[in-house]
Amino acid sequence: MSTAILQRLSTLTLSIKHVNRLLRISDYIPFSIPSPSPTVGVSQVPTLFQEPYILTGYRPTGQDWSCYLFTLFQRHNECLNVWTHLLAAPILLIHWWAKVEALGFTLNAASLPLYLFLVSSLTYMFFSVVAHLLHSHCEHSHYIVFFLDYVGVAVYQYGCSLGHYFYSSEAAWRESIVGLLFLPGAALLGWLSCLGCCISKFRYKRPYPWQRKICQLIPTSAAYLLDISPVVHRLFTVSWSQEPSLPFHALQIACFLLSAFFFSCPIPERFFPGQCDFVGQGHQIFHVLLSLCTIFQLEALFQDYARRRDTMVEVFGEGQLWWACVGFPLLFLGCLITALLTMKHVKNHLTTTKKDK
Ligand SMILES: [Zn+2]
Repeated sequence: MSTAILQRLSTLTLSIKHVNRLLRISDYIPFSIPSPSPTVGVSQVPTLFQEPYILTGYRPTGQDWSCYLFTLFQRHNECLNVWTHLLAAPILLIHWWAKVEALGFTLNAASLPLYLFLVSSLTYMFFSVVAHLLHSHCEHSHYIVFFLDYVGVAVYQYGCSLGHYFYSSEAAWRESIVGLLFLPGAALLGWLSCLGCCISKFRYKRPYPWQRKICQLIPTSAAYLLDISPVVHRLFTVSWSQEPSLPFHALQIACFLLSAFFFSCPIPERFFPGQCDFVGQGHQIFHVLLSLCTIFQLEALFQDYARRRDTMVEVFGEGQLWWACVGFPLLFLGCLITALLTMKHVKNHLTTTKKDK
């Protein structure tokens, strides 16, 4: 009896092996799939790529671009930084489609800021995925992809400002000096935060001095304080029981503040060096919290839009709505040019350093 079972098992194993051989997909693909090199320790990558308290899981530099694309499925220390934003984007889109169906709206002057908010959110997520996935290629690519990441952040800041201004602000706040200067101020601070981040990335080398944080934090914090000011004003002046969007606005602020904390401090890896190399890094927590902030923000903006859409054109005028939205591609272009010009300096600097060696 047992011999018969063993014989059947061995026949089954042989059949599975045969099927496996038949199904080896790579045999049917006319080109070979690049396989990324195994990850290495912190001492085997240049200082620019080293992260504090992360000791292993680094991807070696100098591989083919396609290899870095395929590191999407490799276990390395940037893996979850990529996946957190890669998965947040479809979640945001599903939420968007569900709401569009429920509210039944199309693209027009009143809904344009909402569309631009979605575009700005997807832009920062896309550039973040690109940066974390491809930056290990070489020093040059490390700088350019992170500069693009800063462009994404600036664009997102302006996308938030449009949503907050047109859907969430109160008339009393719009008549204040902050309200009057809000939109041009948001565009200017968005551009300055991109410039500040690009310059500090290029100027300061690891271990980063405190001046780098100042250079990054002053313009980005100023931009955030301005962008969120209409929401904060409303949270303090309107009854929460009357406005169902206000708890979501409170949640987006809480998530953002927490995310800013994890962005600024390498916690918890600081207390467990080498233990958070794959999962648990402060930057991963920052990505998750920022994604949650964006999802709560979208929900709050949907509710505010549903309440105001019929009176929006009357309150703001179609002209102001279109002009504010034209600022979006202009800021995108301005930040892109800034990133490319800073990159030119980086390129010259890297070439001179190589020649000196
Ligand atoms: Zn990131």
